[in-house]
Amino acid sequence: MKADTLRTWLNYLRTTDRLAVIDRRVSLEYELAAVAKHFDGKKAALFTNVEDYEIPVVAGAASTRQMFAEACETTDYGLVQKFAEAAENPRPCLPVDRSAAPVKENVILKDIDLMETLPIPVHHEEDAGNYITAGLFIVRDPETRKQNVSIHRLQVAGKDKFTALILARHTHHLHRQAEERGEPLECAIVVGADPVTMLASQASTPFGVDEMEIASALREKPLPVVRCETVDIDVPAHAEIVIEARILPHVREPEGPFGEFPKYYGPRSDKEVVQVSAITHRNNPIFHTIIPAGYEHLLLGSIPREASLIDMVRQTVPTVRAVHMTPGGTCRYHAVISIKKTAEGQGKNAIFAAFANTFDIKHVFVVDEDVNIFDPEEVEWALATRFQAERDLIVVHGAEGSKLDPSADKGVSSKMGFDCTIPLDSEPFKYRRIKIPGYEEIELEDYLSSNQTAFDFGE
Ligand code: MN
Repeated sequence: MKADTLRTWLNYLRTTDRLAVIDRRVSLEYELAAVAKHFDGKKAALFTNVEDYEIPVVAGAASTRQMFAEACETTDYGLVQKFAEAAENPRPCLPVDRSAAPVKENVILKDIDLMETLPIPVHHEEDAGNYITAGLFIVRDPETRKQNVSIHRLQVAGKDKFTALILARHTHHLHRQAEERGEPLECAIVVGADPVTMLASQASTPFGVDEMEIASALREKPLPVVRCETVDIDVPAHAEIVIEARILPHVREPEGPFGEFPKYYGPRSDKEVVQVSAITHRNNPIFHTIIPAGYEHLLLGSIPREASLIDMVRQTVPTVRAVHMTPGGTCRYHAVISIKKTAEGQGKNAIFAAFANTFDIKHVFVVDEDVNIFDPEEVEWALATRFQAERDLIVVHGAEGSKLDPSADKGVSSKMGFDCTIPLDSEPFKYRRIKIPGYEEIELEDYLSSNQTAFDFGE
């Protein structure tokens, strides 16, 4: 497949004119991120001349919905459904020998110096330092031996350690259990994974599901994995770079501030410390960075959330057509839901289902199936012409929201739902969309004069 590895994927982007190679020397601090952000949502940016580093940096490896769909060998419209099916049906990975694992081509066990070895950028103005933003963070449950994969921001906090933001989810749970035993939690940080594995890592799953097994399901063939050198963790064998480490028990050091997905800074506070024990990498490795709040970051968040959301809405409104977590809503706070309404009141039930899906969802817009939910102008038009606050608005105060939403009160948030569906008993002509017959079929070239300057306007 196109996205077997990061390299096969970048090659594919190059053949389809979606890889920008930047060979002018750039600074690791701000300049790399500034240039990369200009390519965000258009092309992957490959920096081949980053300060004094030999290692190139790629940003925006997949920064459009279309790119993620192509990586998953499906269409824009099939992507969320394919992801939902993979998340429901994980497949085992394929353990391989070290000799079959390119990530073992170079093994560094002593004198570890993160900044000496790796071009780890500084992204935003108020960021506390150099951050790994595209690291798959893998840990193992010692009881079940199941692994967990997620992405945590990692601030370089010394030659061989990071401080990490580990929110209260699966990694956090396993770390707290290890901490109660007074033990460190072994981990591996994978930099330079293929976009399918990156996407799978963001699945909303119950505790105990290995996200790399979801990657295997999405790939429709097992992801080859190899055991680490100094920790009992399996990592993708074709990863560019793997950092082996341990989260220390009962140690906390300052981390942040850091520019986050809502386009505001997450604050500085004492966080977990990750002590590095080894680095392995391919020959001529490529370092991957995600520009925070860029489309790569937002889409990695939204596609798996949409898969979970559509499943949830379908339980109450079986005729749900599609859902979209919009970029303007940080791909987390705003959900647009398209339904084919068959009974009055379904618009409101879809709103309740969305609120119940995740605490992040703050504003929900439900529209009829004729509205293109990927076009913000269409959604606004439905709000403008099919919605009346008196009958179509739901407001709930004091619910749990996102702690990263600065307008929420320590994560306590109001929620609003907009039912923009047409009442079923309305007079049909009132809501009939205007249409010019034949518009869709017009091929403009057929109508253009071959000589565009031939017409004489006269004097
Ligand atoms: Mn998990």
